[in-house]
Amino acid sequence: MPASTLTIDLNALTGNWRALDALSAASTETAAVVKADAYGLGVAGTCPALHRAGVSSFFTALTQEAVAVRQAIGQDADIYSFSGYSARTAADLKQHNLIPVLSAPEHVQDFLEAGSPQPFAVQLDTGMNRMGLEPAEFAALKERILGAKPALILSHLACADEPDHPQNTAQLRAFKGMTDGLGLRRSLAATGGTLLGPEYQFDLCRTGIGMYGGAPFAAASPVVTVSIPVLQIRDVAVGESVGYGAAWVAKRPTRLATIAAGYADGLIRAMCFGNVSLFSKGTACPMVGRVSMDLITVDITDLDHRPEALEILNATQTVDKLADQAGTIGYEMLTSLGGRYNRVYVGGQSNTGTP
Ligand SMILES: *Cc1c(COP(=O)(O)O)cnc(C)c1O
Repeated sequence: MPASTLTIDLNALTGNWRALDALSAASTETAAVVKADAYGLGVAGTCPALHRAGVSSFFTALTQEAVAVRQAIGQDADIYSFSGYSARTAADLKQHNLIPVLSAPEHVQDFLEAGSPQPFAVQLDTGMNRMGLEPAEFAALKERILGAKPALILSHLACADEPDHPQNTAQLRAFKGMTDGLGLRRSLAATGGTLLGPEYQFDLCRTGIGMYGGAPFAAASPVVTVSIPVLQIRDVAVGESVGYGAAWVAKRPTRLATIAAGYADGLIRAMCFGNVSLFSKGTACPMVGRVSMDLITVDITDLDHRPEALEILNATQTVDKLADQAGTIGYEMLTSLGGRYNRVYVGGQSNTGTP
């Protein structure tokens, strides 16, 4: 069975990064958040292009992800790991010159007591209550932290995709209250915070989803196309049913294409209860019946040709539109796509083709 193809437009990716970078002052750095294998698009395929485009700081969730970024781009960039510092990860952090983001008092203490000369960052909690030092915890450790000269001090906004949410200004106030006057490099904004404007941008913005073409960066260029091979084409008569549960019944003589991907490819079953199309040469064909593990059925009656493949993600049906039909968000859509796709990278200067 031929693999589905996930095509990543590196020019769109780097263009989105540049567009986000242009929203902040020249003195504000725009870093790339590449956790979860670059939001499912592949660290090895995307990070070198971002690095060539000018990204000099990368953020990951896990130490092993940070190691993979180091291996993809070489020594000449700062790579942060949100998972912090522990005895278990210390050796990797040191060997690969990674910057742990210390987000709990124990992490700060363990790191400082280990006496490692490597750079580190500190995350503060300004109201999200997920990660980071609370104001009192920070106050108790402040002198020791300042003495060790953190490379960056950061916090994360809970509601930045809702510009009018009162928690944005509350978190901004809390962050300034904890960090004003300390003379440290500061970062508060992810994609949503970057879009909230200069007050939120400080010295470094940590952009993720916007680079990959997702909301809330409405001006983003689409980065991802997913094309799924057609396995079979068949005609069904009025009254015949299709797929599990016989859930869809033909109301007209229907030409069906069965395509080679399903919920095991992150095309979650919930999307068959929404209004999802698959595309051939720009023509939308409705998904019909239940999504199976490895198969989806599509009504191609209105096509004037026999398609070899159908697209489920493209510039028309973007990650956010598809996610919305499945009751989820673009972030989850992208990171769920999984390992069965043939990832193909196009554009990005010299980096054409699969790495
Ligand atoms: C994921 C994440 C980001 C990036 O967020 P986007 O909304 O994808 O831009 C930034 N900072 C932290 C702490 C994160 O967890």
